[in-house]
Amino acid sequence: MMVTTDRELDAVVIGAGFSGLYMNYRLRDVLGLDVVVFEGGSDVGGTWYWNRYPGARCDSESYMYCFSFDPELMQEWEWSGKYPEQPEILRYLNHVADRYDLRRNTQFETRVTAAHFDETTDRWRVETDRGDRVSCRYLITGIGCLSTGQIPDFPGRDSFTGEAYHTGSWPHEGVDFTGKRVAVIGTGSSGIQSIPVIARQAEQLVVFQRTAQYTIPARHATVNKAVLDKVKLDYEAIYDKARWSVGGFPYDVVDRSALSVDEQERDAIFEQTWQEGGFRFVFGSFSDLRTSRQASETAAEFIRNKIRQTVKDPAVAEKLVPTTHPFGSKRTLIDTEYFETYNRDNVTLVDIRSAPITEITPTGIRTADGHYEVDIIVYATGFDAMTGSFNRIDIRGRGGEALRDTWSAGPLTYLGLTVAGFPTLFMSTGPGSPSVLSNMPVAIEQHVEYVSRIIEHLRAEGLATIEADAEAQAAWVAHVNELAQPTMFMHADSWYLGANIPGKPRVFMPYCGGVGTYRKRCDEVAANGWEGFTLRPVTAAVPA
Ligand code: NAP
Repeated sequence: MMVTTDRELDAVVIGAGFSGLYMNYRLRDVLGLDVVVFEGGSDVGGTWYWNRYPGARCDSESYMYCFSFDPELMQEWEWSGKYPEQPEILRYLNHVADRYDLRRNTQFETRVTAAHFDETTDRWRVETDRGDRVSCRYLITGIGCLSTGQIPDFPGRDSFTGEAYHTGSWPHEGVDFTGKRVAVIGTGSSGIQSIPVIARQAEQLVVFQRTAQYTIPARHATVNKAVLDKVKLDYEAIYDKARWSVGGFPYDVVDRSALSVDEQERDAIFEQTWQEGGFRFVFGSFSDLRTSRQASETAAEFIRNKIRQTVKDPAVAEKLVPTTHPFGSKRTLIDTEYFETYNRDNVTLVDIRSAPITEITPTGIRTADGHYEVDIIVYATGFDAMTGSFNRIDIRGRGGEALRDTWSAGPLTYLGLTVAGFPTLFMSTGPGSPSVLSNMPVAIEQHVEYVSRIIEHLRAEGLATIEADAEAQAAWVAHVNELAQPTMFMHADSWYLGANIPGKPRVFMPYCGGVGTYRKRCDEVAANGWEGFTLRPVTAAVPA
């Protein structure tokens, strides 16, 4: 599909991942609007289209990592793994695109370069790198929170003559590591998932670690069909429980401090949830691991002991033991045989906190301690998270104000969904919403349905724009910040705080009050006549 210039649309959606697909369905098929979706990839999938690195898998259990808006869709899809792997999630999203014919109005391999609000018409003027120029009344971004890859600017980076890849834009044909000497830089989620898989294939693997991590075994397995069949009998209730939870999972809430039990009992509870695997260690053990330093330290010590028991070489184990940040301050990591990988003869761990990388050379990586010759470098170095993908687009609101400037000291939003001065621009899972601190499809569905509800209201009432009030926005930003202050999140150099990007303002970006509390607040805003927003009618000069 090719969009011609000068089309006057109802809505433009940017991105065809989870957010964009559902937004398209909702606006086009439920509200009957004229919608175009622009997508940079050559097909649907978003995050799961780009992140094809070995071992890429979601940390949410598969039966909860999907849409819930159509009971038939929920019933018909069969997951094969306890945790869904990237190819299977991509198959699922392709199935969704086919089932609802969502490619029909999606233009692929097209990036939106600019979106300017035209105050004379109350419409957005949107431009793409393919020369498209369209206008729309509603502009919705579904550009993901972790879509702008970050490769550190190491001296000599471009002089490397071997192959180099970033985990977030992995070649579709895959990479053959057989017989190769491989470097992985970075030990976040992408690093710890790919390292064990690459280690099994490569001749030599050298891991460059700046920060040792707390990671919990996933206990991945094929899906237990009996469990899945049982879930399907009660899917709506299970999903609803997730919608009103903290993390977007249907797990039973524990209301128990790690400090309320003695050491023996505490260890038994940690051990049980460690054996269950995945996020249950966090959500199913104690309620204060992220809010009490002392409680967090009990989990940290439990994991440190696990590392020492697993890794045979005590010197390597000590390098892998996290000491620089509390448990729960960075994204909780879920792995499959991560620590065990360091028992392999072909794997070397290099601590680049004590001896940093000084340069990339034509043949490898030099640190303060020596030179490592490699054939392939894998950058598992993360993303310019939450705001990076917005900054790539020249978004301008009232008075030509650039969003980049509005956000120069950190993102300002109302409900993580809208920005004062940028009318009828909606950001699915924007900064200031639960997004990355939750099971994403739950957060995405809530945002898509909320945006759709707003647009429905505007149309029913003959209104042109909805815009966040500056005071409501300031109060929301303060609230998001205030919620984060007492948590462990404030005690690490994480991407949640923008700390991974040199020069980025240090502001805690996601809303950490939980998806349920957030949903309740959004519903209250609607019930109170769209409190905190100004809604303006269509003027005579502006066609509806
Ligand atoms: P990340 O968590 O930001 O990790 C980046 C890694 O690169 C860290 O180990 C970091 O070290 C290192 N690094 C960054 N800049 C560096 C530099 N200049 N020198 C040396 N090391 C450097 O990125 P990610 O692993 O791609 O994950 C990002 C997020 O994506 C995750 O937190 C998660 O939300 C999501 N994700 C989820 C899954 C899943 O569901 N399983 C999988 C992949 C990604 P420091 O720690 O010292 O900064």
